[in-house]
Amino acid sequence: MKKLTVISGKGGTGKTTVTANLAALADNLILADCDVDAPNMHLLMKPKVIEAEVFKGAKVAVKDQLKCIECGLCKELCNFKAITSDFKVDEIRCEGCGLCVAKCPSDALKLELEETGDLYYSQTKFAPMVHAKLKIGAENSGKLVSQVKEKAESLAQQEEKELLLIDGSPGIGCPVIASINGVDSVLVVTEPTKSGLADLKRVLKTVKYFNLPAVVAINKYDLNQEISLEIESFCRQNQVKIVGKLPFSKVIVEAMQQGELVVESAPESKVTTAIKELWEKVSCDLKLKG
Ligand code: SF4
Ligand code: SF4
Repeated sequence: MKKLTVISGKGGTGKTTVTANLAALADNLILADCDVDAPNMHLLMKPKVIEAEVFKGAKVAVKDQLKCIECGLCKELCNFKAITSDFKVDEIRCEGCGLCVAKCPSDALKLELEETGDLYYSQTKFAPMVHAKLKIGAENSGKLVSQVKEKAESLAQQEEKELLLIDGSPGIGCPVIASINGVDSVLVVTEPTKSGLADLKRVLKTVKYFNLPAVVAINKYDLNQEISLEIESFCRQNQVKIVGKLPFSKVIVEAMQQGELVVESAPESKVTTAIKELWEKVSCDLKLKG
């Protein structure tokens, strides 16, 4: 099984739309939505949930009211102002550092894993999909990304899938690192803007740090040909292959309005041809059979 993660240095490059269309073109795959902080793959793929499980990510201090002698030491010590004036734990503020637990004179506090999200295994019309939802304000999305990826990987192995296609998060933080760790290749979707180029440079540095092969697709390349050329030149200088240049196209939005992907609703369009060419190159680089 081959593993490909699609990422972008920033949000709004069309990464998820590109990933969904690649999923529609690929054969024998599992899709993993690792953009758990702002998941939107489900809007395009309309998954039917088959299994759901609770994700327990972060630790939080929990108090046994009966044991508390209200000495106030926990409130005094907490660096995160997570103990209220009546010595209750504010779960949103608590960082789970454990200091209050260690110092409480009456053993009234302990650390417990908190439910911070849900993990789903679903079916879509193109492929099975593993996805998740982090609760509002919950942290530890890197850990949830790892769980989504592990679950998808294990299902892909069980079902003898040829490809695990991962939609990663934007940026270069923990969730992105978790989504690229151990994959065969990374596809970076960028756009021809100054910030797009700056973010592409940052994200390629991160990918290089992990010694992973990366290729680049420029989405809406024709909206600013000058910066597209700058992106191409930067990639050439850094031996990073450009595997696709997708034109700006209103048919993508029209497809979404109809609840479809552009490769389905406009198979003859210019942008579909460009997405197909992109998939050809990516699948050829990954040496996929299909
Ligand atoms: S340190 Fe322990 S006993 Fe003191 S107020 Fe906090 S929970 Fe209660
Ligand atoms: S575990 Fe740390 S952050 Fe949470 S309440 Fe205790 S001292 Fe504060």
